[in-house]
Amino acid sequence: MLRLDFDNAFVRELPADPEQGPGVRQVQGALYSRVQPTPVAAPRLLAYSAEMAARLGLDEAAVRSPEFAQVFAGNALLPGMQPFASNYGGHQFGHWAGQLGDGRAIGLGEVINAAGERWELQLKGAGPTPYSRTADGRAVLRSSVREFLCSEAMHHLGVPTTRALSLIGTGEDVVRDMFYDGHPKAEPGAVVCRVAPSFLRFGHFELPASRGDIELLRQLVDFCIRRDYPQLAGSGEALHAAWFAQVCERTAVTMAHWMRVGFVHGVMNTDNLSILGLTIDYGPYGWVDNYDPDWTPNTTDAGGRRYRYGAQPQVAYWNLSRLAGALSPLFADVAPLQDGLRRYVEAWNAAERDTVARKLGLRECRDEDLALMDDLRGLLHRAEVDMTLWFRALSDLDDAAPDLQAFAEAFYDEHKRAASEPEFLAWLSRYRARLAADAAPTAERQARMRAANPRYVLRNYLAQQAIDRAEQGDAAGITDLLEVMRRPYEDQPGREAYAQRRPDWARDRAGCSMLSCSS
Ligand code: AMP
Ligand code: MG
Repeated sequence: MLRLDFDNAFVRELPADPEQGPGVRQVQGALYSRVQPTPVAAPRLLAYSAEMAARLGLDEAAVRSPEFAQVFAGNALLPGMQPFASNYGGHQFGHWAGQLGDGRAIGLGEVINAAGERWELQLKGAGPTPYSRTADGRAVLRSSVREFLCSEAMHHLGVPTTRALSLIGTGEDVVRDMFYDGHPKAEPGAVVCRVAPSFLRFGHFELPASRGDIELLRQLVDFCIRRDYPQLAGSGEALHAAWFAQVCERTAVTMAHWMRVGFVHGVMNTDNLSILGLTIDYGPYGWVDNYDPDWTPNTTDAGGRRYRYGAQPQVAYWNLSRLAGALSPLFADVAPLQDGLRRYVEAWNAAERDTVARKLGLRECRDEDLALMDDLRGLLHRAEVDMTLWFRALSDLDDAAPDLQAFAEAFYDEHKRAASEPEFLAWLSRYRARLAADAAPTAERQARMRAANPRYVLRNYLAQQAIDRAEQGDAAGITDLLEVMRRPYEDQPGREAYAQRRPDWARDRAGCSMLSCSS
């Protein structure tokens, strides 16, 4: 049966916009507006996450009931749901952008599950809100498939993330100009139900601060601590400082995970950074194929490459500095905020050392191991080597003297492979000498490495193939891909095709290596 228990703390405890309805407006002195999802023509369940459903206490019969598709497309509400769109601002590409808000996301309420966990439900693409500005409040199937799959893939990779419960086709078209070049096209629409303990973003705190509404800011900070950081004790400035340090630490840990698995977010604006350090807002994200710190999948950012792979840890720090600035009116002195930012640097350094140790299969990371890893990364970049395949092959090394044959699949360019072979062999012998000093048995090392170096990641072209099929009416490609991504660290016999390097045809194809913000 489709039943959920709600405890909607956000709308109960925080001030609401007195005005109702979706009319676009500036909303002052309030953190959200009540708004109803706009019904769609013909909701159809395309995919769902069995793990997320179970976590919420929904069994397969409930998910497959016609009522589920109605509710999670926005056509009906369950008892206890109180829909709203939240109000936030943000720095976009380095500039303050003012009020943004949930332009096409509608919160439904906070589920309390049998284990007592709080999970907020949010529909993405459920129609206009007061924050939709000039856009339509809808989402296309392609971006919804990408958000649905990547949320769950990241979860199974062990990366902090918002989750996805369901993907529902709306039976309606949405018009988008995919590359903003004057070629608008009708595309199938969809609604994703995403799930997280909290959808608060840095931008939620920046907006009241930017308007000088310090009481609203304080109210939101205290609410966030109470609801999202209940483990923190104390009061006043000391509590606020401890909280900010925690936000910094969580953000650092998430950055280290992104770098470990080769994930590029693509649009790290402050409205897209979660106060819980969760990966949030899957737009023009991508996965590194050939290792390249300068790569970004986001064509909208192709000029400055602000959000390129290698810059993400620094960008997160910049974003935390904006958050610190927003929080500063709550502090008599900036020292506690500076301490928090220092906490970010420390936590990042510790997490990066941990990443190096885990990816290389070492029991501990010494200073010289950072150099060993740096040298490897330089080689992978110059020789155009697939990051995921390289590290997986490295994890499989046994005690025999290695040659480059074991890594053949990881190379994109035969000439570069031949030219760089001596350097790779030299690096491998350095690495083997280091392993000998580490003294872990081979099997133990391999197990540690296989748990840190995934065999399967959601390569852009894999998602695009599932999208192509779904756009033709066949959603099975989404389910198949989700099934593979549920166990990314295991070898899955028969599914080798999902672990291959990016095929040549996908190198410059829309959706495979180039994505825009249009979604
Ligand atoms: P994004 O770049 O997707 O993070 O979105 C930035 C802002 O634009 C947020 O306030 C979104 O809610 C809003 N937005 C993006 N796409 C749409 C859309 N199709 N309709 C309404 N608002 C949107
Ligand atoms: Mg966003």
